[in-house]
Amino acid sequence: MHKYLSKRAKELIPYVPGEQPIGDNLIKLNTNENPYLPSPKAMDSMVNAVNRDLTKYPKPECSDLREAIANVENLPDISYVYTGNGSDEILAFCFQAFFDTDKDVLFPDITYSFYPVYCGLYGLKYKEIPLDKNLKIDFDDYKIENTGVIFPNPNAPTGEYKNLDAIEKFVSENLYKVVIVDEAYIEFGGKSAVCLIDKYPNLLVVRTLSKSHSLAGLRLGYAMGQPHLIDGIIRVKNSFNSYTCDTIAQAGATQSILDVKYKDETCKKIIKTRESTEKRLRKMGFNMPNSKTNFLFITHLQYDAKFIFDTLRENNILVRYFSKPERINQYLRMSIGTDEQMDIVIDILKDIVTKR
Ligand code: PMP
Repeated sequence: MHKYLSKRAKELIPYVPGEQPIGDNLIKLNTNENPYLPSPKAMDSMVNAVNRDLTKYPKPECSDLREAIANVENLPDISYVYTGNGSDEILAFCFQAFFDTDKDVLFPDITYSFYPVYCGLYGLKYKEIPLDKNLKIDFDDYKIENTGVIFPNPNAPTGEYKNLDAIEKFVSENLYKVVIVDEAYIEFGGKSAVCLIDKYPNLLVVRTLSKSHSLAGLRLGYAMGQPHLIDGIIRVKNSFNSYTCDTIAQAGATQSILDVKYKDETCKKIIKTRESTEKRLRKMGFNMPNSKTNFLFITHLQYDAKFIFDTLRENNILVRYFSKPERINQYLRMSIGTDEQMDIVIDILKDIVTKR
């Protein structure tokens, strides 16, 4: 019944998230979730929050959580931190807060596919800058007029990581526009750009608890930048919904952030599994860019990616296949699960590449 929709809603091309199937017999490696449980301290604090008082509204400023983040990230105070209902929502606020309609928003052509969707929602123009032939971002290609730049570091779905020097050089060359570094996967082996915030008024770093903190179901993300940028996001948020993070999420996220040791151990386990999985895949003839994330972006010279995807699916293993853009339609993105899960996946892949 599209006739009731506004013209703007009719024209939207919404983001399609990875499948979230019901049932436990699947090995789910399609949306880069973390296979380990969240910090026990976070789980306890969420139970306590439920038993406290949900009749009251949550803290609109999320002050305890923002303070925990400021402390752990060595930022001066909570005015450098924004917390929101998943980093997707924060990114949506950022597109509204920082980008104008007169020039293009710049981002890579192969990247998180929500970025063009936000542009569609807000009527922003954008330019997708092609990755180079090795599927890497070339910052030289971004030296054109823009209303702001956004990219994930490491990039998704390729897994490519840019070191801190490269990020700093780029941010310093774009001083008149906001540069958003989406660090959804930074804790799987990269070095965060948070340490540059003091120096650069145009740098905003966005993170999520969905991957490194095993809390995808909680919907909690955060942004870090100088106070004028954080104020900009808060302006948009308070024009939309003052209570974006519920009481349970604030309680769980605060303890999860403070439990640095648990998060580091979990991420280390995933990095170790990623490295061993990469070696085993390469031995089977798979190729992939280096990854500093909790996923691998794999391709096989002889076997069609869609065929591998379908065969894995028949065996109750879910990975992500992107039919578009064409340039990556021979790749699969596979999240890193536990060692046991990856053993099963490797066995089935071996079957595919040796027997068929
Ligand atoms: N940025 C990137 C690059 C992602 O891959 C994701 C996960 N889909 C997000 C942001 C959003 O994460 P969330 O909304 O779960 O915080």
